[in-house]
Amino acid sequence: CGIVGVLGTHEVSPLILEALKRLEYRGYDSAGIATVDAGHLDRRRAVGKLINLSDRLVRDPLPGRSGIGHTRWATHGGPTEANAHPHRAGPVAVVHNGIIENHSAIRAELRDRNRGPESETDTETIALLVETLMADGLSPRDAVQAALARLEGAFALAFLFDGEDDLMIVARRGSPLAISHGDGEAYVGSDAIALAPLTDRITYLEEGDWAILTRTDAQIFDAENRPVERSSAPITPEA
Ligand code: GLU
Repeated sequence: CGIVGVLGTHEVSPLILEALKRLEYRGYDSAGIATVDAGHLDRRRAVGKLINLSDRLVRDPLPGRSGIGHTRWATHGGPTEANAHPHRAGPVAVVHNGIIENHSAIRAELRDRNRGPESETDTETIALLVETLMADGLSPRDAVQAALARLEGAFALAFLFDGEDDLMIVARRGSPLAISHGDGEAYVGSDAIALAPLTDRITYLEEGDWAILTRTDAQIFDAENRPVERSSAPITPEA
């Protein structure tokens, strides 16, 4: 339902929580955050209100200057912690807005290649697919590109990778996603309101776009994997 991502210069969990709060008005049943800290990918998730996630983070902090966060509105699988995003498989974590229509077919195909699913979600299939492609030797960007070619449905996605402190990959098909840079930081949000305290200009990805982000750079590709430029616009109060 809501996506936030930050490649930051300070601890990002508090920033991501704050941004997720700005998306609360959209409704959600659970929430979670994943970070990469000195190359180590980890996550915390909680059912219910964001206060449950922030309590969890007090008891069990999640350090790191790179992170993704999500508020979930369940479509596939009930509102449990195991079904909350980020979903992780091996070296990859993903947050997802929308629905993957062909998740059963992809799951069936992957059955012999990796562990069984830990959740009932369509989203976890994306993580399992990228994990499998990376196990075949693909880089994170090539694995995501190949995975995107297999996915049917509507989605906004943000990926983080174990061992990669300065990399976030995002994609948009049928569900909005905006990116932005400022002061050596990169931001991603499903809604301009989430990013309003962090930056004053954003770039909406266009339908079918995907992008490779570092703290200082964005490479954007269209649905045919051609490099493209997308223009930025100021965040307006009504955005
Ligand atoms: N289909 C996904 C799920 O049920 C994502 C739902 C959402 O957009 O929050 O986990």
